[in-house]
Amino acid sequence: MPIATTNPTTGIVERTFDAIDEAEVERRIAAAAAAVAPLTASTFAERAGWMRAAADLIEADGDELARLITVEIGRPIAQSRAEVGKCARGMRFYAEHAESFLAPEWLSDPSSVGASAAGTRYEPIGVVLAVMPWNYPFWQALRFAAPALMAGNVGLLKHASNVPQAALYLDTLFERAGFPAGSFASLLIPASGVERVMRDPRIAAATLTGSEPAGRSLAAIAGSEIKHVVLELGGSDPFVVMPSADVAAAAAVAVRARTQNSGQSCIAAKRFIVHADVHDEFLAAFSERMAALSVGDPLDEATDVGPLATESGRDELADLVDDARQQGADIAVGGTRPDRPGWFYPPTVISGVTPAMRLYAEEAFGPVATVFRVADAAEAVAVANATTFGLSSAVWTNDSAEEDHFVRALAAGGVFVNGMTASYPELPFGGVKASGVGRELSAAGIREFCNLKTVWKS
Ligand code: NDP
Repeated sequence: MPIATTNPTTGIVERTFDAIDEAEVERRIAAAAAAVAPLTASTFAERAGWMRAAADLIEADGDELARLITVEIGRPIAQSRAEVGKCARGMRFYAEHAESFLAPEWLSDPSSVGASAAGTRYEPIGVVLAVMPWNYPFWQALRFAAPALMAGNVGLLKHASNVPQAALYLDTLFERAGFPAGSFASLLIPASGVERVMRDPRIAAATLTGSEPAGRSLAAIAGSEIKHVVLELGGSDPFVVMPSADVAAAAAVAVRARTQNSGQSCIAAKRFIVHADVHDEFLAAFSERMAALSVGDPLDEATDVGPLATESGRDELADLVDDARQQGADIAVGGTRPDRPGWFYPPTVISGVTPAMRLYAEEAFGPVATVFRVADAAEAVAVANATTFGLSSAVWTNDSAEEDHFVRALAAGGVFVNGMTASYPELPFGGVKASGVGRELSAAGIREFCNLKTVWKS
């Protein structure tokens, strides 16, 4: 993929950038390595001050950044603005809580291990490489950067090639806010340049958010180098609706859960698994709302769904729907590529999807929903868990025994009851199975890139 801003609304390449050469990669890694000592020596209070200053900068630049998101990936502008606000909140969260999350823990009875004192302390591990996707170009990078920098680690960002201007903004953000030079930088390199960086002995660990193939590739390199890796990959999250639920509310939330960021979110609900008793009612209400969404210019405040971020992503989504249609699926809403410039795809609702269709098992990264009819809770769980993914999940029920059953039985990194999956700085975020390894956000997220050092004193 060329390193360029290509406006998805028009398909026009607005700016192109050259990848940095090997000498510049080397210079940036050396600067990152040189920042480890001053950052490790800084106090939590100093880092919190710099992090809050960075949050202030993001907010001050909010309108410009929201517009940039919309130009680079086509997200409706109100949602782009919300992303910027979420970044500032996440940064302030870690400024406030990092020290307590990483506080040393001492055994209350050290004599049990023959010591006068024994316990653990969290220490930074050095330079962490972050390979990040385009779909939330600031949030994805900052939900890594905020805890990493607050822990005293240094960050190097390889951002997706279609969001270079977001990458360049982040390149200078933390230094502008007061962090020591080299604490955080972007590497404008193609995906093929990641291996050289990952194998560099000055890189301690890596995190990647993106597709399964990219995750497998980086994890294989990390494995051969014995370096820690956190992966946040795809998802095909189930959204289960049972008869005791408020079906109208479920249908309304289902629309938002499926179409946030024009459907390009790893934690978007993608498969709607509905009990037979309320299936038709849900399908009618959901279809009506999906059909009523306004699709168009993402800079227009009234737009609900913009273009998809890339032409290849739009084509891949259209292929999934065409495959299902050819094999007999029922398209209730949408399903046809519009004849207009840009990479638009309409909100689409499909039922009658069978395991023979690609849509059954593959992730639909766009505003395409599949609706399944199930006979009971056991079948709902079986369909929900019948994918290689396990990122998050949602269940709608007002029966407490049923709720307990789903919370335990859904094979996912999260379960949201009578609501939709969202990420919060306060809660761990991550998946099981092919959705990834490790956790981001909360105390778990900041501890991922720390050396949990055991201390024992005679
Ligand atoms: P990719 O996984 O290709 O891109 C994500 C990041 O990984 C980018 O920075 C990319 O760089 C980099 N990358 C790609 N291949 C490799 C590799 N072999 N080694 C190291 N880094 C690599 O995602 P796409 O943008 O192509 O999206 C395709 C699919 O990925 C989506 O359909 C969705 O399933 C999933 N996805 C999931 C996201 C999530 O939030 N979990 C976010 C985005 C995508 P470059 O841009 O230069 O190729």
